[in-house]
Amino acid sequence: MHEGKHTPIVSKELFDRVQKVLAMRSRAQKPTKQPQVLCGLLKCGICGCSITGEVQTKKSGRRYVYYHCTKKRGMCAGEYIREDALASQLTELLARFTMPEAWAAELLRMAAEDETKAHETAASAVRTLRSSIEKMENKLARLTDLFIEQDIDRPVYHEKKAALMSEKRSAQEQVLRLEGDAASWIEPLRKWVAEASMLDEIRKNGDLPSKKSSLQKIFGSNLTLSSREARGLPQNPWFSLAHAKENLTEKILFLLWCAVRDSNP
Ligand SMILES: [Zn+2]
Repeated sequence: MHEGKHTPIVSKELFDRVQKVLAMRSRAQKPTKQPQVLCGLLKCGICGCSITGEVQTKKSGRRYVYYHCTKKRGMCAGEYIREDALASQLTELLARFTMPEAWAAELLRMAAEDETKAHETAASAVRTLRSSIEKMENKLARLTDLFIEQDIDRPVYHEKKAALMSEKRSAQEQVLRLEGDAASWIEPLRKWVAEASMLDEIRKNGDLPSKKSSLQKIFGSNLTLSSREARGLPQNPWFSLAHAKENLTEKILFLLWCAVRDSNP
């Protein structure tokens, strides 16, 4: 068509507008690939690939986020799950790991008691080491006196001095170590108790990113999605906490305490 010879049936301006609208529509109907909040939390329970999320727009114009297997290793029967359904499952999951207030108080009390004991033991070991360091220093002084008064030869003096110095150094290092980490496991334990105590609040009122972050602490990378169900093996000490809540017995707090202490949260 040559310009100017015919009056166009559709004006250029209208044509451009229609093109724009069509382009927008086709864009809107395609799923958008922006990373969604729960991406990176779950693995596919069937093939082990990561679970990803995408926005899909329904004919009604409503937008939903769906999660599904990335299928990076080929075909997979993993199903799609809507974000709201997944989110409510995850919230349910968190309930297994909330820390009863009374338990938190008791665990912190036990921690304080053990901390005191650990410091006492360390302090007494340090006292013993300090007194032996003092004895070594006296020996060194006597040795130097003997050498100055020419009662011992230079090679003997140097040999004995080197041995005493090395003994003294290793005792000093032991003192530093004992003073440094007498109860180094207490702080992580307190932090864990605080985290577990906050979980109920996060479960009830937290946003999705906070729930995700809690679940990552509990499950690490063990959370899977299969048949639209999220499940996984919790890491310790979360595993012990859930176990303790499910099996209430007299000794449960003591057992939980041992598990928490030994797993170094
Ligand atoms: Zn899969």
